[in-house]
Amino acid sequence: MAQRPYIVGNWKMHGTRAMLSEARAIDRAAQRHMKVEVAIAPPYTLIHPIHREAEQIVVGAQDCHHEAEGAHTGDISAAMLADAGAKFVILGHSERRQAHGEKDALIRAKADAALAAGLRVILCCGESEETREVGKAVAFVKRQLKASLPEAGEELGDASERLTVAYEPIWAIGTGKSATAADIAAMHGEIRALLVELYGDVQGNEIRILYGGSVKPENAAEVFATPEVGGALVGGASLTADSFMVIALAAAETEDS
Ligand code: PEP
Repeated sequence: MAQRPYIVGNWKMHGTRAMLSEARAIDRAAQRHMKVEVAIAPPYTLIHPIHREAEQIVVGAQDCHHEAEGAHTGDISAAMLADAGAKFVILGHSERRQAHGEKDALIRAKADAALAAGLRVILCCGESEETREVGKAVAFVKRQLKASLPEAGEELGDASERLTVAYEPIWAIGTGKSATAADIAAMHGEIRALLVELYGDVQGNEIRILYGGSVKPENAAEVFATPEVGGALVGGASLTADSFMVIALAAAETEDS
C-alpha cells in the first residue's frame, strides 16, 4: 500500500523560541490535512518544545553523531535526540557534506546509529552543477546512495518504514532554481531501481523518495505530479506556516486527483 506523501521542513539554523508559534500554526493546519505526513526538523534547541506541544506533526533532527556517547564536545547522539522527542533524523545533507566534510562512510555510520536509537532516517543525496553538466549526475547519485544507505538486514528491519531518500540537487538548494519535472522523474526512477536492488521488490518500491531544492508554493503542484515523487524536503519555504502548508496542501490535492 502506498505511503502518505511526506512533507518535511528543514529549518536549518533558523529559529529561536519565537518560532514556536509558527510550529503551532503548522501543527494546527496539519490536523486538517491528514492525507499528508507533515514533519519539521528544527534546530536541536526546539526539538523538545515542539514535540511537547505537537498533536499532529512529527519532529526530527538535522544531524546526529555516529557514536552512542563519548568525548565529542558539541556533538549530539541519536539517543539524545530520541529522548528529546525526535522521531527521525536528516543525514547527509549537502550542507553538512560540504561544510563539515562528511563522507559517505560516516553518513552510513550515522544512519546505523540513528536506526539503533529507534529513529527513522531521511538520507540526502544530490549532485553539483558541474557533475550534472558533464552528464554524470545519475552515476554520482547512485554511487553516493550505495555507499551511504544502511545495509538491508535484521537491524534495519522494514526499510520502507525506516528509510526515506531525499534527492536534492545541490545547485537547486536555496537558489530559487528547481530541477525540471523531467530531470526529477528521471533521477527518481533511477533511485527507485537502486532501492529495489538494495532492499527487494516490496520494501524498495515503498520507500518514499522526496524531492528537495527550492520547492515553494508556486512549483509544489508540478513537483508532486511528477512520477516517483513521494513528498518534499523543504528549506526556506518551511519557515512560515503559510508557505509550508500551501506546499502540504498541494501534496494532499495530488493524492485526491
Ligand atoms: C534543503 O536545504 O533541504 C532545501 C531543500 O532548501 P530550499 O528548499 O531552501 O532549497
